[in-house]
Amino acid sequence: APRALIAGNWKMNMDRVSSEVLASALAQNVGSVAVDLAVCPPSVYLSPVSVVLGSSGVALGGQDCHTAQNGAHTGDVSPEMLADLGCTYVIVGHSERRADHGEDDAAVRAKAEAARRAGLIPIVCVGETEAERDAGKALDVVESQVRGSVPEGLTGATLVVAYEPVWAIGTGRTPTADDVAAVHAHIRKVLGDLCGDAANVRLLYGGSVKPGNAKELMSVANVNGALVGGASLKAEDFLGIAKAT
Ligand code: 13P
Repeated sequence: APRALIAGNWKMNMDRVSSEVLASALAQNVGSVAVDLAVCPPSVYLSPVSVVLGSSGVALGGQDCHTAQNGAHTGDVSPEMLADLGCTYVIVGHSERRADHGEDDAAVRAKAEAARRAGLIPIVCVGETEAERDAGKALDVVESQVRGSVPEGLTGATLVVAYEPVWAIGTGRTPTADDVAAVHAHIRKVLGDLCGDAANVRLLYGGSVKPGNAKELMSVANVNGALVGGASLKAEDFLGIAKAT
């Protein structure tokens, strides 16, 4: 299995000083965990966080990117700009962007392709709503999102996929280990059609991951790490998840 990745999605949280303090705590403790760590701060804090992380080995990522390299796109950030600040990753297609900004699978795929153009590793997010799960459509919805959002020809070194059931994000509710196993196995199978080495692509689980449930969720087959929201805002919690992985 590929080396696990624990990525923190800070969303629209933190301020400059708290970002630096958190990044510093992670940089000092990354040596005590056996997984890869990444943080995705708000774009305005990427630069100060990048300075604090330095060469610690904690990787940096953006939370979104535009498809263009530059141009008349007020308020947007290009993947080349993220790469310029030292980012390794960029999250694309998070359900909050799909919902708040109307991003569909085609838009997400275009962003993932732009990320690759800039040398970034896209973390492509997929996940069903509660209504879709209740209707027994979770696997179908996730398969169609993967086929629509993941560019063809990527590899374990150039792609990460995150399964985040929308109803588990920020709710304290999580799927059962069996449900996660079923979705991750299905994603792995679908990626076999899209990637040369699907076995090496890291598949993250996201949605209410905490230190207390990380051991169970991270030991599920085909789970290669976590995309963490709320619990990534405290060094102790984030490192606790990493240690449980
Ligand atoms: P929570 O960990 O706060 O549920 O958020 C998950 C998420 O959306 C990470 O991208």
